[in-house]
Amino acid sequence: MLLEPRLVKLSTRTGVEVRRTLPNARLRRIGAWVFVDHFGPTAQTDGMVVAAHPHTGLQTMTWLFEGLVEHRDSVGSIQKIVPGQLNLMTAGRGISHSELSELGPEAMHAAQLWIALPESTREVAPSFQHLAALPALPLPAGASGSLLVGELLGVRSPAQVHSPLVAAELNLVAGSTLTLAVDNTFEHGVLVVAGTAQVNGELTAVTELSFAPAGQATMRLEAIGPEPLKVLLIGGAPFDEPIVMWWNFIARSHEEIVRMREAWNSFESADVDGRFGDSGKSEPVFNIFEDRVGGWIPAPELPNVILRPRV
Ligand code: MN
Repeated sequence: MLLEPRLVKLSTRTGVEVRRTLPNARLRRIGAWVFVDHFGPTAQTDGMVVAAHPHTGLQTMTWLFEGLVEHRDSVGSIQKIVPGQLNLMTAGRGISHSELSELGPEAMHAAQLWIALPESTREVAPSFQHLAALPALPLPAGASGSLLVGELLGVRSPAQVHSPLVAAELNLVAGSTLTLAVDNTFEHGVLVVAGTAQVNGELTAVTELSFAPAGQATMRLEAIGPEPLKVLLIGGAPFDEPIVMWWNFIARSHEEIVRMREAWNSFESADVDGRFGDSGKSEPVFNIFEDRVGGWIPAPELPNVILRPRV
């Protein structure tokens, strides 16, 4: 099944648009991957300038193809995000962070994905994991790749996730073909980041995502050129917990979302439960970490409907 992206404007200073392939009207998630955004390539000046905002109940995976972003968060992380290094932020019960593109001559090209946390760990303490080096995948000539998350071809990533998942970046020279052995209990998606592919025989253009349901033991990639092919492979065991996704939060009920929203929006005066970082109770939100962006992004009004959990 081919998923085409829709353009979504982010609440950033630069008003950038991302291409979102998940969630999609035809598919809500792939394993516990619930959100796939692809950004750029574009000039750094149009890059990511996202003021402090919260997350709950999820992990974010930021993966750069080009460019440089500085990440800062309420657990004290100050991390330069560069291509080839993995940055996995676990929101758990609550975290706040900001993202700032560094000006440079190179383009900005990135993906950000969200992983829903299962019931057993969705309230864990927030944390941030930076992996400067990732395992290379043993691939035949014409292909190369690194493993971001999970296990593939006997290689294992140290990334800490909370349900069975896989993610890898794969690069193929134009005209080459790769048949990859995968876990047949997983469903998979292939996001084409550069070039053009046939994914299991399905023509998939740049920015599109090809979905393969569980039950397949191999994924077949063909780089049909003329450019080299770069893809992000994601997969996971079907994640069937009903969740409520709203704004930057993942919860299990409308009431929980209401409380999370109030906790964040009342944070300027006092964070009642310390969910998004203990500020000493009297500090404004943008002082709780050494933020360079300034300000904060309040949660919007809730829609005038009851948000229902969805599988
Ligand atoms: Mn964020």
